[in-house]
Amino acid sequence: MAFAGLSERLQETFKKLRGKGKLTEEDVNQALREVRLALLEADVNFKVVRNFVNVVRQRATGQDVMASLTPAQQVVKIVHEELTALMGGQNARLELAPKPPTVVMLVGLQGSGKTTTVAKLANLLKKQGRRPLLVAADVYRPAAIKQLQVLGGQIDVPVFSMGEQDPVSIAGAALESTRKGGQDVVIIDTAGRLHINEELMVELERIKAGVQPHEILLVVDAMTGQDAVTVAESFHQRLVLDGVILTKLDGDTRGGAALSVRAVTGCPIKFVGIGEKLDALEPFHPNRMADRILGMGDVLTLIEKAQAAFDASQAAEIRKKLKSADFNLDDFVAQLRQFKKMGPLDQIMGMIPGMDRMTKKMKGAMQFDEKELVVAEAIINSMTPWERRNPERIDGSRRRRIARGSGTNVQDVNRLLKQFDQTRKLFKQFSDWEKGAKKGGKRK
Ligand code: GDP
Repeated sequence: MAFAGLSERLQETFKKLRGKGKLTEEDVNQALREVRLALLEADVNFKVVRNFVNVVRQRATGQDVMASLTPAQQVVKIVHEELTALMGGQNARLELAPKPPTVVMLVGLQGSGKTTTVAKLANLLKKQGRRPLLVAADVYRPAAIKQLQVLGGQIDVPVFSMGEQDPVSIAGAALESTRKGGQDVVIIDTAGRLHINEELMVELERIKAGVQPHEILLVVDAMTGQDAVTVAESFHQRLVLDGVILTKLDGDTRGGAALSVRAVTGCPIKFVGIGEKLDALEPFHPNRMADRILGMGDVLTLIEKAQAAFDASQAAEIRKKLKSADFNLDDFVAQLRQFKKMGPLDQIMGMIPGMDRMTKKMKGAMQFDEKELVVAEAIINSMTPWERRNPERIDGSRRRRIARGSGTNVQDVNRLLKQFDQTRKLFKQFSDWEKGAKKGGKRK
């Protein structure tokens, strides 16, 4: 999970601070020294770190903080606010043209995930009711055209291609074709190179001049850390970017790129890629990212994911279950299938407050593949209705009988019951959070 190291270190620092009650200026300075080191180790740009720490120090050592009843909490709140500001404050949206089609041009180096991201973005827009057209204008790497066609096929979005012709003509013809095709967003996949070079920049400038895109978005790989920031600076100088899409945030990136790009270049991060699948692209919300970094969980994203994965009636059903924290083995397999639609479980759990630290333990316990789901179903089908309602009372002899009946062994049954128990705990956390959020009003 991205930011794991940073997140752990910051939480450790603030835990120590909380343990102190009243704070002296030296306490705050000590904590800030640790914050500074943690940020530098997460590969955040050193100038960004310096400014960040200075701003936090100024705010945190003010009289109103030091004299308050909960100084440590105030410090964490300030760090949260400043982290959010560092990443741009607000969610920067894709600006759609008042008169369609909106033309979006994706640029980036080879391997950054550009072609995949073109398809992911189309998929996201399609889910929002748009009618995208993909344009294969990466003629430098012929396989890219085929790749885009395959990806387009997977999400059922048309792909415009003219082979290896001049990318400016291709883009122009693609735009023209939307008059007949009726597509309202045109997403252009441009050529990349292994490194920035003049030839690439000139080609991109020509496409820009030719089609005058509404949005030019740079795709960069979060795993490349400060290199991603340097790349963003160079592209921005030549093309004037409207935003950045940071890919591979599902990997164990230290977070430097996410925390520096905006501050260094002034370009907001608009989306983040969080997996190889075509639904693994999310709008970037700085405050939610700050939540995740500080271990406050990211419940809003989780709820949005749940809403996207379930239809309305299922969503109502799951809300009911979450509230009562009462679901039985009958529901279990159905829930697992639904959760599977939301994405990898470890990612989901990282978003639940307090759950990030449990993730490692639960990850192993809750990873189900399709085959395991079938086994789980077989086991549950071999239980009596009483057993399904009272899983904690299934003793050894019942376990043996269930294993025989389902063609599995006792270890399989044990594992399933353990997984069930942990899932129930997960739901309990969820419902406690819901109750807390209601009582406390708006979350912050
Ligand atoms: P391009 O050369 O920039 O067009 O890059 P591709 O779109 O071909 O992607 C390069 C590799 O990165 C592929 O294996 C993608 O599946 C992978 N990739 C792209 N985005 C992500 C992401 O957000 N997470 C992960 N884990 N892999 C990604």
